[in-house]
Amino acid sequence: MTVRAAIVVTGTEVLTGRIQDLNGPWLADRLLELGVELAYVTQCGDRADDIEAQLRFLAAEGVDLIITSGGLGPTADDLTVATVARFAGRELVLDGPLEARIAEILRTLLAGRSGVDFEAVMAANRKQAMVPAGAQILDPVGTAPGVVVPGSPTIVVLPGPPRELQPMWSRAVETAGVQQAIAGRTEYRQETVRMFGLAESGLAETLREAESGIDGFAELEVTTCLRRGELEIVTRYEPQAAGAYAALVDLLRSRYPRELFSEDGALIDDQVAALLAGRRFATAESCTAGLLAARLADRAGSSAYLAGGVVSYSNAAKVSLLGVDAALIAEYGAVSEPVARAMAEGALARFDADTAVGITGIAGPGGGSAEKPVGTVCFSVAVSGRPTLAHTLRIPGDRSDVRERSTTVAMHLLRSELLALSAG
Ligand code: ATP
Ligand code: MG
Repeated sequence: MTVRAAIVVTGTEVLTGRIQDLNGPWLADRLLELGVELAYVTQCGDRADDIEAQLRFLAAEGVDLIITSGGLGPTADDLTVATVARFAGRELVLDGPLEARIAEILRTLLAGRSGVDFEAVMAANRKQAMVPAGAQILDPVGTAPGVVVPGSPTIVVLPGPPRELQPMWSRAVETAGVQQAIAGRTEYRQETVRMFGLAESGLAETLREAESGIDGFAELEVTTCLRRGELEIVTRYEPQAAGAYAALVDLLRSRYPRELFSEDGALIDDQVAALLAGRRFATAESCTAGLLAARLADRAGSSAYLAGGVVSYSNAAKVSLLGVDAALIAEYGAVSEPVARAMAEGALARFDADTAVGITGIAGPGGGSAEKPVGTVCFSVAVSGRPTLAHTLRIPGDRSDVRERSTTVAMHLLRSELLALSAG
């Protein structure tokens, strides 16, 4: 038996996209950890009828647990609690102790402010102390309390601000209402494998093969997603299907020994950052605009290895800042392997580094030629003590796609050079 849950994200600002929903994805992860299957995430504005319609739909679908986010504030457009109470057929009752607690919070909040009519503020906030009869109360983190309304489905009503919702969810899980709703849950595992340089269609073929060849494959829930030129394969399964998952990873490893770069979900950026530990790294970037340096700067430990970088779009900058020979640019063009190589070696010298990457390419519309169309990007990896590597690729997409993907390609080239180095 599986336990199914749904999330209703309310708030007109989320519905219109002015605020990106953080609560749906965060709660989705928590449900996965609990072994509860997430069936739906729905969104609607701050309208009672629309919120109620979501609840009706989800209850009719037979979910065991509904979590709502948002609409718990003191203002008139905050109507989630009243709507849930009506839906659950429960009256709203004033909770005396809760009212006292909210008064206490407000007293602290307003302390020292002059001209505040405390009684008026309290009257406006009394609404927040009205809870559905028989509900379990979740103490406020801000001023808004949450509630758990037991039933089928059990409904957990949480506030919108993520910093309030998150601690309150941990308390909600402990309540009898939620425990009863999730009693039949199972244990889920989720693992991620990453590949680079492989088309999604090729993988689909291999997965079809796995379907017939691997015992218990049907118990794996495999999702593939193509991101920034990398293929992410996320698999969810219950513990008894661990053997099938191991067989799937074996198959992928044997079929794609070069493409499979991460079996534990680690990102390429983290792998490269780990390989750069103890080294001194520099970048010379044109069409990626410093993104390679920026992505590595985000990683833990980067301050130890990241010496610096140059963003050099103009030829003059390549010459003066990186020491690229102007004659080389004149002979081969700014987007060429010899220039990429000279940029990487220039960065190596300029930053007194032992590892450097040079990237030069044509990212923007109007910049290409028949011989070097838009998307032509030349990469170079210079590691002292090894011959400098240079490589040219045609990268599809618009300017920002080319920038993103080129950076990912550079990460992978750097990774394989550093692995080759450590392999001797
Ligand atoms: P408040 O007492 O602050 O009004 P509330 O429970 O009524 O709390 P909302 O009014 O729905 O919550 O949202 C308040 C603010 O919290 C939003 O303006 C937004 O900044 C943030 N917020 C709400 N929902 C989300 C969400 N799903 N993802 C990210 N932020 C959110
Ligand atoms: Mg509000």
